[in-house]
Amino acid sequence: MSKIRKMVKTIKIDVDKCNGCRACEVICSSFHATPKYSSNNPARSRIRLIRDPLKDRYLPVYAGEYVAAECMGRDKYIIDGKEYEECDFCRASCPSRGIFKDPDSGLPLKCDMCEDDPALKEPLCVQWCLADALVYEEREEEVEEEVKLGDVEVGLQSLLDKYGLSEIEDAFTRISRKN
Ligand code: SF4
Ligand code: SF4
Repeated sequence: MSKIRKMVKTIKIDVDKCNGCRACEVICSSFHATPKYSSNNPARSRIRLIRDPLKDRYLPVYAGEYVAAECMGRDKYIIDGKEYEECDFCRASCPSRGIFKDPDSGLPLKCDMCEDDPALKEPLCVQWCLADALVYEEREEEVEEEVKLGDVEVGLQSLLDKYGLSEIEDAFTRISRKN
């Protein structure tokens, strides 16, 4: 595979500054609503807050890749005296938990850094985080060239994993008869 120069976009999270306000979840779900900004539902957000106010635990986590199966290894972390659960830091849209899936369709959700045309100056969750817990960073890196799957391909893959090819083919046949 050939190497290419690529702009890598990241959001640095300062857990100590997060106050659990959930503004990031609100704006992310609103930006990705159809039509854009027509509704907001944190369950549809591509950033989710792992929160336990009684223990002063607030951890924003971005939705990463869809995975078809659960992983085998689980870890617990104690950081600054706060205990984090096994899957808290994980970004995967994974079958073993409910976050990072659309609550109606069950299709995987992934942070797209607020792709828009024209491009935004900074992702919206960063702009809306008044506590400065989220900091946007860009850097150029040499990476392996890869084929990036779009939302449709990832969604179809998850449906195939869940229902199998023949059930999906039957559904397409039924839909095409209706249209
Ligand atoms: S907007 Fe900032 S402070 Fe509020 S929950 Fe999100 S990361 Fe935390
Ligand atoms: S960068 Fe954009 S898509 Fe990603 S979590 Fe923040 S608001 Fe959502």
